[in-house]
Amino acid sequence: MTSALIADYYDAIVGGGSVSGLMAAREMSSRGLKVLVLEEDHEIGTPEHCGGVVSQKALEGLGIIPRLKTVDNEIKSAIIRSRNSSFDMNSENQRVIVIDRRSFDKEIALQAQKNGAEINTRSTIVSVSLEENQFKIKIQGGKVFGSKFFVDARGVGTLVNKGKRNIIPSGQFEVYAPWIMKDTIEVIFDSDLYPGFFAWIIPTGEGKGKVGVAGKNINPNLSIEKFLESRGKPYSIIRKIYAPIWISGYVKPFFNGRTVVVGDAAGQTKPTTAGGIYTGGMGGIYAGRAISESILDGGDTLNLDQYENNWLTRFGNEFDRLLLFRRILERLDNKALDKIFSDISKNTLEKISSTGDFDFHSSALKRFMNTRMTINLMRTLMGNEYRKIVKDLSKI
Ligand SMILES: Cc1cc2nc3c(=O)[nH]c(=O)nc-3n(C[C@H](O)[C@H](O)[C@H](O)COP(=O)(O)OP(=O)(O)OC[C@H]3O[C@@H](n4cnc5c(N)ncnc54)[C@H](O)[C@@H]3O)c2cc1C
Repeated sequence: MTSALIADYYDAIVGGGSVSGLMAAREMSSRGLKVLVLEEDHEIGTPEHCGGVVSQKALEGLGIIPRLKTVDNEIKSAIIRSRNSSFDMNSENQRVIVIDRRSFDKEIALQAQKNGAEINTRSTIVSVSLEENQFKIKIQGGKVFGSKFFVDARGVGTLVNKGKRNIIPSGQFEVYAPWIMKDTIEVIFDSDLYPGFFAWIIPTGEGKGKVGVAGKNINPNLSIEKFLESRGKPYSIIRKIYAPIWISGYVKPFFNGRTVVVGDAAGQTKPTTAGGIYTGGMGGIYAGRAISESILDGGDTLNLDQYENNWLTRFGNEFDRLLLFRRILERLDNKALDKIFSDISKNTLEKISSTGDFDFHSSALKRFMNTRMTINLMRTLMGNEYRKIVKDLSKI
């Protein structure tokens, strides 16, 4: 490939124009770097494949005050169900909202653009090669761009391309139905129907919301249809999406030479809920800052370990704990879930409601697991493995 073919040169090219890639672009361009974002889809934020549940505190951390248009709803409570039991939680203190990702991602794109970044849609990266310390990034149609750094923010697809397993199918329908409660998220556990995960209802308004499922080896379409039938007619399906999710924790290293991986592509989604707006967005921010420092230092020294260290300092322990809870969840059958749910006291729920942190929810999970009956049940179910998990949990 000769340099004559290169359409333009950049300090950094970002592959993927969703939350983590756009955050990286925003940070780098705010520090004066010449940045290009290449997005495969025809529109930023579309197709939306996200529940959009996020805390206002997380958005503050990401440096976004969402416009009214971006906020679909405010959540006041959650109902967590097993087959034959359930409990309610007040979540007002946690300031949880539902955002419209179609609009949210465009807000970040605008921030990045105002800093000087260039963004282009319908620009599918087909190859990334490194020649003489320069990336050559080719998009469908044949155009080639050059850059010093490549930020891979191409989502779960990057993990698939790396041969990672443990990717589970999910689906989410936008639904109009009278049984969707405006202020309340519902989470439904059923080890037969949604093995290793759950179904959810995220309201976006009165009588409308997102109904989703994920689970190992499930057919998301059939699962949601069955779920909707169980809730009863009338309901209307306005939109359907299917997307793989990653729940096996962060994937190190976050960089290799001058290739920097962020967001879902680096496994920065919570192992319990697959939520990644905050954790992946922060990945983009930390990566963008570290790349900027490397370039502003003259480009010879790489400060990329700052990115990995900062992200791990903030989220590493939390992710390790959540992975342990995931191991527990995967061992619980419906009978065990029923027992645990019915054992949760009002006092525990009140404590979680008043002190729980939506973005770091491992301490709330620890409280759930701490009742005597639950501990006995886990010991019986998991034997030595449970004892090891408890030991691991006390270490972090
Ligand atoms: C059903 C579902 C519900 C979810 N609900 C929530 C939730 O409520 N709260 C929450 O916090 N998180 C949620 N998540 C997770 C959240 O959506 C992701 O963690 C977040 O979007 C990750 O952002 P990202 O930028 O890392 O990757 P992605 O959002 O996956 O973006 C990757 C981008 O790369 C582009 N791309 C891919 N390949 C190429 C290529 N070759 N060339 C150019 N561009 C390319 C894609 O088009 C895409 O725009 C949910 C996920 C799913 C699937």
